[in-house]
Amino acid sequence: MLSLKNISKYYQAGGNKTYVLNNVSLDVDAGEFVSIMGPSGSGKSTLLNIIGMLDEPSEGYHYFMKEAVHQLKEKARSALYKEYIGFVFQAYHLIDELTVYENIETPLIYQNIKSSERKALVADMLDRFQIVGKKDLFPAQLSGGQQQLVGIARALITKPRVILADEPTGNLNSKQGEEIMELFRKLNKEDKVTIIQVTHSEKNAEYGTRIINVLDGKIDSSRNV
Ligand code: ADP
Ligand code: ADP
Repeated sequence: MLSLKNISKYYQAGGNKTYVLNNVSLDVDAGEFVSIMGPSGSGKSTLLNIIGMLDEPSEGYHYFMKEAVHQLKEKARSALYKEYIGFVFQAYHLIDELTVYENIETPLIYQNIKSSERKALVADMLDRFQIVGKKDLFPAQLSGGQQQLVGIARALITKPRVILADEPTGNLNSKQGEEIMELFRKLNKEDKVTIIQVTHSEKNAEYGTRIINVLDGKIDSSRNV
């Protein structure tokens, strides 16, 4: 499903290249649940963003769903993203001017889902995440935990085949966090959704079927759970 071959990402400052990722290769099969761990600044988010086609590597080859992503133009990458990926962002990336309801609905509008169907799907998400009472509020009116739930609801609303999640439970209390991990486990086991998450939590990492450790921009180790 995903293949990264010799991916590097560097930033140029003066004459020096600073490597954030250095010659990373990674294959993920459909149906896997991969957890990426590692210290702050080791390159985890950059790796996830590249996998999700939100960031471009400086070097290397990237295949996703049999497409050579490194050869695709922006428009084709974006179409591929919309077709397959639900991305849970670390910083939520909610649209400030839209209500909770509208934020969750947005990906369905991009997919040209008709209005009555959108209503039913959003209502179902609001219910599942127990945020029905917040539907007409704007992101700034919510706590961090609530914004995170909205971000997760928005990522899942299209029933994506691939979920990419950057610290999905970082701002949730432990009960909410556990519920999200249980939901991910169920989506992975029952619906065969491929999941790749970045996490600092060993406990959350073990919901995955494989744990990858990133250190100084390289994959340091990998083990099956
Ligand atoms: P992690 O998710 O493991 O904390 P990141 O992928 O966010 O790590 O960042 C890895 C490194 O890349 C950090 O040291 C960060 O400072 C650096 N970095 C990220 N973006 C830029 C940028 N635009 N310019 C220079 N360095 C950057
Ligand atoms: P959570 O456990 O979901 O993070 P909190 O205990 O932080 O929730 O917040 C409790 C209530 O306070 C919530 O219903 C939320 O609407 C409100 N609230 C929290 N933070 C803010 C904020 N920054 N602005 C407005 N309302 C807030």
